[in-house]
Amino acid sequence: MKKKRVFVTGTTGTMGGETMKQLLNRSERFQVVTLARDSEKNRTFMQQYIDNPDLEVHWGDLVNYDDVLKCVAGCDFVIHCAAFVSPSADRYPAEAMKINYGGTLNLIQAILAQPNKDDIKLVNIGTVAETGDRMAPIHWGRVGDPLKPSVHDYYAVSKIAAERAVIESGIKYWVSLRQTGIMSIKEFSLNEGIAFHQPLNNVLEWVTDHDSGVLCANACEDWVDTDFWGHVYNIGGGEDCRNTSYELMSAMMKEIGVKQFKEVCEPNWYATHNFHGQWYLDSDKLNDFLHFRSQTTKDFVRYYGKVMREQAAQQTPENTPVMNSNQLAAMLKQTNEQVALTDTGTLHWLIHNQEEQVDPFFISKEQWAKIPGWDRFVLYRPEGEAIWLDHGYDESKPKTELSLADLQQAAKFRGGECLSESMTAGDWTTKLDFTCHLGHHFSASPRLVLEGGHWCDECERSSWNYHELAKQSPFFAQVWYPLHDKSEQTHEYKKYVKDTDITATSKF
Ligand SMILES: [Zn+2]
Repeated sequence: MKKKRVFVTGTTGTMGGETMKQLLNRSERFQVVTLARDSEKNRTFMQQYIDNPDLEVHWGDLVNYDDVLKCVAGCDFVIHCAAFVSPSADRYPAEAMKINYGGTLNLIQAILAQPNKDDIKLVNIGTVAETGDRMAPIHWGRVGDPLKPSVHDYYAVSKIAAERAVIESGIKYWVSLRQTGIMSIKEFSLNEGIAFHQPLNNVLEWVTDHDSGVLCANACEDWVDTDFWGHVYNIGGGEDCRNTSYELMSAMMKEIGVKQFKEVCEPNWYATHNFHGQWYLDSDKLNDFLHFRSQTTKDFVRYYGKVMREQAAQQTPENTPVMNSNQLAAMLKQTNEQVALTDTGTLHWLIHNQEEQVDPFFISKEQWAKIPGWDRFVLYRPEGEAIWLDHGYDESKPKTELSLADLQQAAKFRGGECLSESMTAGDWTTKLDFTCHLGHHFSASPRLVLEGGHWCDECERSSWNYHELAKQSPFFAQVWYPLHDKSEQTHEYKKYVKDTDITATSKF
């Protein structure tokens, strides 16, 4: 049987790298094509694979259409894992838009240019950051919930634009899989200020790098049901991967010999708002299609401990006394404080009165000053019934009966209007015309709006103006008011980088 040709992007990154590894383990069925930027680091990384006859490495760039076209030609699958991620994306937002959105446009155009375009299957990797801050009591979520990229999170903004392009592309076989927090040694070794952007009581339903790779590789197998294609999904490791930020960090610290997490930081170094994360009401759906789950948070924490202990043993010169728990905690606390003081760290913003950062992440400097010390700080794991958000139309009806009335109702619930006068019942793909609460005209498919949670592209690209949006859109209010008081000072933060800035020849 002819091997399937799979173009995997981002193979020098965590998820793409695992995907490549998994596919090469199944070399009797798959050939892998990849595109990597020509750098010394990437050349070194790819060296271990370079002699593999089932791997074809192209040196080039996702933002260069001709490079992308070369890789897409002749492929059966495109697994799009490449992304310019935070914290770099926060420092270089224009690059994030260019690579994450522009690169995706190139892939779409290259697929549509193929003679067999209707046979090529595209797996787009989205992100949990698209839906932003979902702390308790709205910590349970599902696709179709409102998009709410955190303020200043240009990574999320660029991924939203890219996902919109994929959903509306006209490609016959596509999916968008929103990746959650990924548990990998590499990701947890970053000493960057972003470590303090995540509130201690934040929730995430994590997944390991290994399971993410299995997931993407499984998507290319013959046994995948055709119903899988054409939808948006949340990736999550399931029940045993649902943790609060404190729980996970505390378990990791214990593994390396720190008795109490509280010894290595202060609670007011951590933001209280404006991060991202959810526990999923619908992540089992993806696992039912792709059967990728085999590891839990506990498995990862044990593995993390093992690797860290081995590294420490290697780095400690012989005859040096091993640090005791207190010494280790004291050293880590000092390091952590230094990280929180770097330019992307919370303490840096507070010391330099950077209101643009302090307000979204702490509400205000006054609110920050009220964060108590460990003796009174409340750590909690959210409990109780999940709140299912209202998507503004009758979801109990069969999908084949979706009608114009449903779209009119959904538009009204979002503070706007559906202008189209007719639609074919059950047609989730043909675009309809809408206006938003500000009167912007836009067209969007029912799939984009109802299943993806997307709405007005002009509002999305202009600013973060959530206080105002929540006033006008009952749909959005569901993810705003549980976490924000109506008496809070309102802010509008302009978006300096827009999808419309991408003027590459690739734009279709
Ligand atoms: Zn608008």
